[in-house]
Amino acid sequence: MTELAGKRALVTGGSRGIGAAIASLLAEKGADVAISYENSAERAAGVVAQIEKAGRKGLAFQADSADPAALKRLVAETAEGLGGIDILVNNAGIARYGPVADLDLADVDALLDVNVRGAVLVSQAVIPHLGAGGRIILIGSSLADRMVAPNVTMYSITKSAQIALTRGLARELGPRDITVNLVNPGATDTEMNPADSDHADMLREMSALGRYGTAEDIAAAVAFLASPAAKQITGTSLTVDGGLNS
Ligand code: NAP
Repeated sequence: MTELAGKRALVTGGSRGIGAAIASLLAEKGADVAISYENSAERAAGVVAQIEKAGRKGLAFQADSADPAALKRLVAETAEGLGGIDILVNNAGIARYGPVADLDLADVDALLDVNVRGAVLVSQAVIPHLGAGGRIILIGSSLADRMVAPNVTMYSITKSAQIALTRGLARELGPRDITVNLVNPGATDTEMNPADSDHADMLREMSALGRYGTAEDIAAAVAFLASPAAKQITGTSLTVDGGLNS
């Protein structure tokens, strides 16, 4: 599997969950991969080991997506360490739950800072590095796109923002032959949304396939959008949710 041979990718939030699966799969497909993380240094090192096991260069950087200066540093160090950047996967994200009426200002700010401003600022810093054939892939949510539920309204707002970011960037970068797309996961078994949580059975029942997705399911969609085969796809979203939205 070498369709990403010679490509250099940055995956934000790559220390565990969906981001770790994306980083490993991009490496299996031939890309050198840098990941960012907030706290999980040891797990990030484990993902780098996986990337290296695939025969690719792997780098991990501590960079809080809520910190604009850290994001600038992350992109500069990635470009220097990998010799450039061809693919950005804007994956780092947090969830905070509760009805809008009860939300703390700190939770509202954290969601906006990490999920929205972080995605904008990483994209802004990466754009000058991308050449023709470059890729930006964002991670939204089936919840925001198709089915906003009680207690996840604020999180869903931050994920709806990824739709506008995807479409706007697709227009801005299309003339440079750079594609920008969104992947919308449904219920996906990670620490953010474990398949054995209180609401997991409800999510299973609501989906057409009756099961949770895996981080690898999401990684497969990202790898496709990153590949040369997806060169004519931009400004759109690929929903990977077992038919939650069907
Ligand atoms: P996860 O298991 O909680 O992993 C989150 C990843 O993001 C970790 O690598 C974490 O780093 C990193 N991260 C969190 N806050 C960060 C920050 N401030 N700065 C830098 N990195 C940060 O979550 P996941 O389920 O894999 O989710 C990945 C993406 O998919 C998110 O954007 C999420 O909203 C989206 N999503 C998930 C689901 C689902 O059902 N799981 C559904 C729809 C969308 P540390 O390890 O250092 O904390």
